[in-house]
Amino acid sequence: MSQQADTSAALASRLDALRISARRQAYEYYVLDRPTVSDAEYDDVIAQIRAIEEAHPDLITTDSPTQRVGATPQSGFTQITHPLPLLSLSNVFDRGELDAWATRMERILPGASFTYVTEPKIDGLAVALTYVDGLLDHGATRGDGFIGEDITANLRTVPTIPLRLDSSDGSPVPPVIEVRGEIYMRRADFAALNERIERDGGKTFMNPRNAAAGSLRQLDPRITASRPLRLFVYGIGYVSGIDEPAGHLAGLQWLQSLGFDSTPDAKADTTLDAVWNRCQWWLDRRHGLPFEIDGVVVKVDDRRQQEELGAIAREPRWATAYKFPAIQQRTKLLDILVNVGRTGTLNPLAVLEPVNIGGVMVSRATLHNEDEIERKGLLIGDSVIVQRAGDVIPQIVQAIPERRTGEERPFVMPTMCPACGAPTHREEGEAMRFCTNAACPAQLKRHVEHFVSRGAMDISGFGEKLVDRFIDLGWIQDVADLYALPWEEVAALDRFGEKSAENLRTAIEASREQPLARLINGLGIRHIGERSAASLAERFGSLDAITAATLEEIAGVAGVGPILAQSVHDFFQEPRNQEVIRKLREAGVRTEESGSARDHGAPLAGLTIVLTGRFATAGRAEAEERLRRLGANVTSSVSKKTSYVVAGEDAGSKETRARELGVPVFGEPELLRLLDGMVPA
Ligand code: NAD
Repeated sequence: MSQQADTSAALASRLDALRISARRQAYEYYVLDRPTVSDAEYDDVIAQIRAIEEAHPDLITTDSPTQRVGATPQSGFTQITHPLPLLSLSNVFDRGELDAWATRMERILPGASFTYVTEPKIDGLAVALTYVDGLLDHGATRGDGFIGEDITANLRTVPTIPLRLDSSDGSPVPPVIEVRGEIYMRRADFAALNERIERDGGKTFMNPRNAAAGSLRQLDPRITASRPLRLFVYGIGYVSGIDEPAGHLAGLQWLQSLGFDSTPDAKADTTLDAVWNRCQWWLDRRHGLPFEIDGVVVKVDDRRQQEELGAIAREPRWATAYKFPAIQQRTKLLDILVNVGRTGTLNPLAVLEPVNIGGVMVSRATLHNEDEIERKGLLIGDSVIVQRAGDVIPQIVQAIPERRTGEERPFVMPTMCPACGAPTHREEGEAMRFCTNAACPAQLKRHVEHFVSRGAMDISGFGEKLVDRFIDLGWIQDVADLYALPWEEVAALDRFGEKSAENLRTAIEASREQPLARLINGLGIRHIGERSAASLAERFGSLDAITAATLEEIAGVAGVGPILAQSVHDFFQEPRNQEVIRKLREAGVRTEESGSARDHGAPLAGLTIVLTGRFATAGRAEAEERLRRLGANVTSSVSKKTSYVVAGEDAGSKETRARELGVPVFGEPELLRLLDGMVPA
């Protein structure tokens, strides 16, 4: 055998193998609604087939997946032959490919100028609806493009599909019209549906497209009727009896006037720059839309030009789809780790074989809790589909059981805390499992990290490593210990140094003045985040007031429901937490909203005072505490906001700083007057 024959035989068998894979994947996706590879992988197989066929046109066969649309319809439904085939769309992935698409059209229609319509590519499934004398006659899936499934009974249950066309505004209703569109499910409806299915113990859907397809292709229309399906129409198949509008955009408007919901925000442009801008506009909005889109469809507006351009194989030449970067990929679930969170929750975390999703390498995914692992039927070692959508932490969409080798093993949630070895506990009705050891070092670490974080006390320069180190050295047993660190020892730590120690100390001291809401957030109360912390601070004005509040009073705060209220109440009644609050207050951390003391008529309210040096008549800490009780805000550093600096013996840099800033400096006699609640003149 010649080398050439050998090569072409190898190529033909490779092509064969690729086609077999693509056919199987298309069947699983279109017919079974149960894909076993990601869309990007399927698209890649198709691209490989296409590349070989382009180089060797003699190898093209009519049954090649590049020549066909979708998959052969499923048995169980009556089949409908489409009078005009329902085609697919070519894809472009970047600006260069978009330009190349337009150049191909210019080659066929030299000298023509085009108006392009851009519209969102709805991620659902294609249907064709035929109306006779204004009444819905029948509806079908796309199927293989030539033959679809008769799903009329199911389509009749979709509320946004008109059963009778509307001619109330005088729009002409043709004797026969076939409209084409996409059946889809809104994200919120999809989430609610999955929740319902989960409650009933059923198998949830992987994504809104999958849910729409599964719901529409039900043999029992009552099931379809219970599913929140919608339709966007995006085109006209054919019309008889009257002239349809000459342009695509006008056609969409006409469909709208007949009572359909047409693809939203369609826009006409005359340059590819404008088209490309619009594609990016949609890409930016992608994750914020109420429904899922996977790209933008670009169509030539003029119907005559569309006809002249025609179609090639399974795709019209006059339209193309700009496909967004993939947000899902297939990879391997290598392991499931368990972290201990700041409130003691055991958080499972998926360790993935690193995979590139839309330009970002993903190697971890959240798994929320053990129920999610069970619900998704995940085994360690499984092939899984992972999704990274926008800024959301990557998540596992589903496992692919078809790819199991028998080597996979189940995950078992530890009954002992992986950080401290204490028993773990899961309360009835709770999704999370907890470490029962209140002094669990992992909990303390997460807790301190949260306390110093940006949304809480915002202590810059206090990273994870430092927190771990200080805890390991035994310097921190609770968050109040941050205000009593042994600074000389800190400065003496290797690779730390005096300068960094001083900077950290300044940052920690400054945090004493953080608004109450930040402190409440920093305390790490279960279920309480920035927003609910702000509501509590606003309503109660001080930690003491929250401690004194009844459960009902807490539950009455806007944005704080019964679960949050119980959590807040329990937290403040716990003696261990009361002790931490006492220590924080003693360390000079502000535990009241500034201004709230003024509301209560305290004599020194509104004053910010700094004490420095030694006093003959009172210890400094004691004097500070008394000033606070009188409503003053006592701080340790001098700023423009400081009302007075009271300097005792051996006062140092603070006194100098006050003079530089023009802040009044008093001596011990004025301190005594202040302690009597009198404001110096
Ligand atoms: P397509 O999704 O690439 O594009 C054509 C379809 O887009 C049309 O049939 C129509 O239904 C739809 N569409 C949505 N909005 C539209 C609009 N405004 N105007 C016109 N059409 C609009 O076509 P396809 O051939 O169905 O699908 C291939 C897609 O399915 C690819 O994304 C592919 O990755 C995926 N797929 C995945 C697997 C898998 O196993 N994961 C298998 C097969 C196909």
